[in-house]
Amino acid sequence: MRARNPFGALAALALPVSARARLSPIALRCAMDQNATVAAEPRRAGSETPEFDVAIVGGGPTGLMLAAELALRGVRFVLFERRSSPDRLSRANDIHGRTLEVLDQHGLAGAALASGLPMRRSIIMVDRQPVADIPLDDLGTRFPPYLGLRECDLEQLVEQRVRDLGGDVRRGHEVVSVEQDGSSVLISVRTPAGLEDVHAGWLVGCGGLHGPVRAAMGASLDGFDYRGSWCIVDARLDGWPWPDDHSLVFVEGLAVMPSPERWKRCAFWHQPGREDDDAAGLQRVLDRIVGVGRVAETREHFVTTYHYGLAERFRAGRLLIAGDAAHVASPSGGTGLNSGVQDAHNLGWKLALAVRGEAAPGLIDSYEAERRATDEANLRRSDALETRVEADPAALAEVARQFAVETADPAAVRASVFGARVEARYADSPIVAGEASRFGPAPGQRVPDAGPLVDPAGNRAQLHDLLRTDRHVVLVLGDLASMPRAVAALARRQDLFAVHHVAAGPAPPSPATAAEIGRLADPALRVHGRLGAADDTLFVIRPDGHVGYRAVLADADPKEYLGRVFAHAVLEEISPATAADETAASRQGPPGA
Ligand SMILES: Cc1cc2nc3c(=O)[nH]c(=O)nc-3n(C[C@H](O)[C@H](O)[C@H](O)COP(=O)(O)OP(=O)(O)OC[C@H]3O[C@@H](n4cnc5c(N)ncnc54)[C@H](O)[C@@H]3O)c2cc1C
Repeated sequence: MRARNPFGALAALALPVSARARLSPIALRCAMDQNATVAAEPRRAGSETPEFDVAIVGGGPTGLMLAAELALRGVRFVLFERRSSPDRLSRANDIHGRTLEVLDQHGLAGAALASGLPMRRSIIMVDRQPVADIPLDDLGTRFPPYLGLRECDLEQLVEQRVRDLGGDVRRGHEVVSVEQDGSSVLISVRTPAGLEDVHAGWLVGCGGLHGPVRAAMGASLDGFDYRGSWCIVDARLDGWPWPDDHSLVFVEGLAVMPSPERWKRCAFWHQPGREDDDAAGLQRVLDRIVGVGRVAETREHFVTTYHYGLAERFRAGRLLIAGDAAHVASPSGGTGLNSGVQDAHNLGWKLALAVRGEAAPGLIDSYEAERRATDEANLRRSDALETRVEADPAALAEVARQFAVETADPAAVRASVFGARVEARYADSPIVAGEASRFGPAPGQRVPDAGPLVDPAGNRAQLHDLLRTDRHVVLVLGDLASMPRAVAALARRQDLFAVHHVAAGPAPPSPATAAEIGRLADPALRVHGRLGAADDTLFVIRPDGHVGYRAVLADADPKEYLGRVFAHAVLEEISPATAADETAASRQGPPGA
């Protein structure tokens, strides 16, 4: 019997895989839900003014997060979810720190933390002995790197946020066909009252592996199924010797992950007739592999198979896909849900600009350019974890030995493996611009948190608190007098830019000439330090918290970045060509003052 690699905390087992054994390779080409068909006959897309700017298929974590992003920006959208009530069966249980940061931008992180259980340590066991004990702290986010939280509880939080923002979520609505032309998408929906046609400007498929939009795009999903299947059992265990907030990974084929209220998410290889997805099956696994622990109670339990797949493209005209519809990974490493949330976070603000006619022509395409590389890296990481042990059980001892050597320094493992969850970077982004510095985030990289910042009234905030907004955040670190006029002009469009002048020192800067520019002090220089901004520096931070543009303040000219993001009409307003190189020092004050 082959040992299989348990999921989640096995991120720490990311060793090189030389040989991979995959059975039943398949091309999951245009996988379609059995109940859904994509209309082949030509219909009436574009014949009517779309009643929605955007339609979303699927109310899983990806679709709901996209809905929240669109609702925040006042986009007219509708979300169709075929299930009439929320799913209470939870697949994911492992929410990353970066996902919590995204939730925090919606004011939801507190509620997520209250409903979940942070994972504090990850212990890897071989032959009932620990080979690695990795503390999970100090990974550059104020949030725990892993939070044990059920997928269904996360969905509930985000759906409530969407509804609070006035979003249109229609349950019991199944998208059955999709047709697009150059100006709109016609969507046929099976509703409780019968079939309805809906027109939308854009359609985003967040319908998971079998959702209908990828097929409508004519895009294949190339991948394969992993062999065998897994039992997932949520259980409370008596006599479990480890603290509730520790994850335990037994290389022989069992993962026990923390979940709130003393529940544990247990995953083990399904061996029909020997180890089934029930209390007795789990007990046999505990007896065989761990030697301690009694199953006191079980909640949900199911058998699941894992897949690997990446869509050949994420966009075709007005159709886009995100989350599992675009890429599906084994849960090893716990990236599926988390990647989907990041997809939505990347796409939401871009779509909002596009539907307002304020996006540069290439902005929507930058979604795939940025996310594909990250999603693919996540797939590769999960695949390496999934296949390394299954390849040859006889190699287990060697794997364990190698692992013990590589985890001799848990700090390095933490930083390189767990830290990767936080430090997402769009290194080859076609839209970011400016210069990387020796320290601090480069263009394309996530902005780290730091603080406190203090406003003139003495209110304190963290840098990430400034990102709880629907627009770009511009940080002017240093002397306002050396701020180029083109930068000051950004404050004219307060619906697009929140401009803050941050002074190094105990006092906020003296009143700026433009009232639209916020004033903040960085008394302990923590923000300057974290951003690596020894010199006067300008940051233009995108609505998804990544650096869009970075430059030394006196030389700053964000025209290149702005031109890749915003439509010409917006540029005319915020970046008058003649003013691009003039500095505020050469005149009385910034325009609009
Ligand atoms: C056992 C297991 C454990 C996992 N653990 C983790 C983990 O710890 N961390 C992690 O990050 N990921 C994990 N994953 C992966 C994670 O569950 C998925 O990546 C995540 O659910 C994808 O979210 P999604 O919104 O893209 O798709 P889904 O959650 O699949 O949502 C798609 C939605 O679309 C709806 N839909 C489909 N077709 C239509 C249609 N035609 N019309 C209307 N609605 C439609 C469906 O009903 C569904 O609600 C795990 C997966 C499994 C199987």
